[in-house]
Amino acid sequence: MCKNKVMQVVSNGYGYKEVQSRCGTTGISGGLLICGECQEKAERMYPQGWTYVPGDTCRHGNYVGDAYGPDYICGQCEEGVL
Ligand SMILES: [Zn+2]
Ligand SMILES: [Zn+2]
Repeated sequence: MCKNKVMQVVSNGYGYKEVQSRCGTTGISGGLLICGECQEKAERMYPQGWTYVPGDTCRHGNYVGDAYGPDYICGQCEEGVL
């Protein structure tokens, strides 16, 4: 992640306000905030996509870890199912 700021829109009870947070921090929705540049890089690195952090979802849609590496392996991945 980098030093870019990511804009989030937050409800404050009356309306909405914009909050800037560092790229790579956890956003209000619980997902990882990443800027456009990192998103582009991550999409190339993790073509399978992600739920919360880049690479946390394998091509079968199972949770397999986080941006720092896999925690466990999906059974289908282990068997070499594409
Ligand atoms: Zn970034
Ligand atoms: Zn898998």
